[in-house]
Order: sequence, then structure tokens, then C-alpha cells
Amino acid sequence: MDRKETAKLMENVMTELSEKEGFLGIEDDEKRKRIVLSAQEILTTTDKIIKSYIRVSTEHGIMRIPAYRVQHNNISGFYKGGIRFSEFVSEEEVENLAILMTLKNALHRLPFGGAKGGVHVDPRKYSEKELNLISKKYVQRFARDLGPNHDIPAPDLGTNEQVIDWMVGEFKTIHPGQAYLGSFTGKSVENGGARGRREATGKGTFLSYIWLLSQWYDEHVSGNGINRTKQWETISNLKQQADNSDPIRVAVQGFGNVGSVAALEAYQCSEIAHRVVAVSDRYTTLYNEKGLDVRALAAYTIGGKDLPKNSEELAAAGVEASVLPVDAVLTCETDVLILAAIENQIHERNMKQVNARVLVEGANAPISTEADDYFEAAGTVVIPDILANAGGVIVSYLEWKQSRITELYSEDDILAEMGTQMKETLKSVYERYFSSVGHTLRFTCFTLALERLTSLLYKHGKLY
Ligand code: NAD
Repeated sequence: MDRKETAKLMENVMTELSEKEGFLGIEDDEKRKRIVLSAQEILTTTDKIIKSYIRVSTEHGIMRIPAYRVQHNNISGFYKGGIRFSEFVSEEEVENLAILMTLKNALHRLPFGGAKGGVHVDPRKYSEKELNLISKKYVQRFARDLGPNHDIPAPDLGTNEQVIDWMVGEFKTIHPGQAYLGSFTGKSVENGGARGRREATGKGTFLSYIWLLSQWYDEHVSGNGINRTKQWETISNLKQQADNSDPIRVAVQGFGNVGSVAALEAYQCSEIAHRVVAVSDRYTTLYNEKGLDVRALAAYTIGGKDLPKNSEELAAAGVEASVLPVDAVLTCETDVLILAAIENQIHERNMKQVNARVLVEGANAPISTEADDYFEAAGTVVIPDILANAGGVIVSYLEWKQSRITELYSEDDILAEMGTQMKETLKSVYERYFSSVGHTLRFTCFTLALERLTSLLYKHGKLY
């Protein structure tokens, strides 16, 4: 989903809210329409877009690299969102991701608004020293707009706890005496980071699917109150397959922070048996119909190494697999497809070749609106990004909180709290989606998020 598609979906939801009798306690139709339109104007425009250039001397000469921080909206709390290092970063992409952060935080009822940052670099092409310089210069450029009570970045695609530690160090130098630990989340544990932060998004992504298939399905097995018959049948069939001792097949696109952890969760799942038949990264798809040894692949790729690409590397990893083209992961024979790489992966041109019956967005915005609508009509379950990949920001919230109380939570506490918060949101979304007809699961998530944001704006007296 790109920026335009996100805005369009928001507009559609807002139109429906403006027509919803009694919404915000306003019975007068004209007044309600005016108030909701006023919220729509605020939420479909961005508070602040900052673009700058980072000047670094590299072995290829002096470069001026575009860098961004976009603060979309802070009605529900301080701006919050990751910083990515990627050769695909653009202003439009960063703005789209900032909007999705506002919606995600509202959906999960976190006390944060939405922001995002990006630097237009392929981090793999830079030395550690150069990346350190880029990270520090990013903070120098944007320091005035960041801070524990204003805008709190975190890692994202192409960045990690090392990058965040460098950024915190620079923030501390620029703002001596400030409570610097709360200025970034995703730090290393030694530097005040939350235990379990790196795994949180992947674990939460898998939870959004497995909880639907196990607990939620079991609680509603009678089918009472279920109006979404095709999707319900999809889940019932998967459940049946697992009950017949035929492990559910899973494919995972992207084998980084999010994808490798989600794949491990599927591989190790004790509740319902799964076999991970395919995983991919930017160069390769590895496929094995009988199931891949995900633990061996996770060990092989530790420290950001690519997946094995040929028979020698597969032998070194101790993994049996066929090496397929990079996009094969999207269309292979599988029951579940977890998207954990980048945006715009499934669209009009390839949606009909997708075999999976459940799609889970660990990545942000990998499925276009057109594909979403197609899957909805076909009975495929699409668990959208703002629902599925919130584990990271929930744990980020706990990290930010622990920096305030200067006490470290245990990993068990963090993951238990993350699970509790995720399940609360999953319950509210699945209840509303399966009891209704018509809209996609993404529409349902946008509705719940926009209801909350509009209500906050109204309560704060910002809508006329
Ligand atoms: P990462 O850099 O650790 O891993 C990205 C993976 O995707 C790598 O395996 C890379 O090789 C692969 N990849 C890149 N381009 C690809 C392509 N064209 N085709 C197939 N694979 C490709 O990043 P990450 O932190 O795991 O983030 C992945 C996605 O999840 C991003 O969309 C990010 O915005 C989203 N996300 C991440 C977090 C988090 O906490 N890290 C939180 C929420 C959402």
C-alpha cells in the first residue's frame, strides 16, 4: 500500500464514521459529518516533514545523502517510529510509514503518535565506520526535533541496536543533562534497551496468526455470530488439516529481524504443528517441501549474513533445500505466507499466483489495496501490518517506560506484557471483523484506529 492508497482507505473509513449514527455521541447528522470531516482533514495531512542531507566522506568520495524525519500526528502521544537505512527510502514512503505508525499506535492503544525516519543508503555498501558517521550525523541534523517527550525513534529495516546505540550516544553529547535513555528505543540491553526487543516484532507477527487459529477459533468453534463465512471456512480448513496430523505449511519472505524470528516461531510452535517450506532474502528463496531447518538457517545468518545461495553454502549451513529465484517465495505451494521484507510485494500483477490462504504482514505495506480486495473476495485471510507487526512498538513502549522508572523489566515480563496487549487488540479486531460483512480486515483495523483518534481530537476540542 502506498501513500495514496493509505489516504484513500482513511477517507473511506472517515466517510463511514461520519454516517454512523450516534458516533461521538452526536445525533445531529450534519454536525457529525462536519466534525468527522474536520478530523479527516487533520489526519490525512502530516504535521511536519523534515528533509536534510547528510554529508559523509566515504571511500567512494564525499556523498550528500538524503535523510528524512516525518512526524505525522501526535494526538495520542509523543511521535514514535523507526528509522530505516535503505536505498528505496523516499519522502513519500517515509510519510506513508509515519501515517501507518499513527494508526498502529492508536489501534493498540499505545500512548504514542506516529513518525518515521529514513536515510537513502544501502547499509551493506558502507563500512562500519561510515555507518557510525551517518548515524551520528542523522542525530545532529534532527536532534532539535527528537527527544523522550517529543519524538522517539527506533530501529527499522536496515538498522539495528548498534545504530541506535550510536544515535543515543550522539543525542547525549548534543543534549547534556537530558534524560537521553528515553530518546530512542531498540537500544542494546547494556545501554538500557528492553530484553526481547529484537524478537518482539517477529513473535508478535506470528502471534497475530496463531492466536486466531487456536484460541480465537476454539472459543468461536460453534460458528455462532460468525458472518464472514469464507474466511471462517479458511481457518476451519487449516485447523482441520493440523488436526489430521498434516503440519501447516509456512513461507516467509525476508529473513532479517522480523522474518527469521517469525519463521522460528512457526518452526518451534508446540500448539499446532507447522513446517516452514520456504524462506527468502533479497537474493534467494530456499524451498523444501518437507520443511526447512529454520534453526540452522537462523544460526547461519546471525549478524546479518545472507541466506545460503548455493550447494556449498547450504552444506556449510547443514540445510537441505532447493535454491529458487527470489520471488518464488510469494507464489510457492504454502498455506500461510508471512511477508517480512519490504513494501509493495503483492499487487495486481502477481496476486492471482499467490497460493497461501492466510497472509500475514510482518513488514509494513507489502500488499496493495487491489490485492487486499481480491483476497477478501476469495476468502483469503489477510492480517494487516498495523495489527500484526505491533510487537516491536509495544516493547518499545515498555523500554521507554523502563527508562522513566530506571528499572529493567525481565524478558519474561516484557514478552508476557507484549502478548497480553497484542491479544487484547487481536480480540477486538477479530470480533468486529468476523461478526460483520463487507469490509477487509485492514478496513476494520483502520476503523478502530480512526475511531479512537477522532474521539481524542474531539475530546481535546480540536474539531469544529
Ligand atoms: P531487516 O533489515 O532485519 O531484514 C529485512 C529482510 O528482508 C532481509 O532478509 C533482506 O534480505 C530481505 N529483503 C530485502 N529486500 C528484499 C526483497 N526485495 N525481496 C525479498 N527479501 C528482501 O529488517 P526488519 O527489521 O526485519 O524489517 C522487515 C520489515 O518489517 C520492514 O518492512 C519493517 O518496516 C517492518 N517492521 C520491522 C519492525 C522491527 O521491529 N524491526 C517493526 C515493525 C515493522
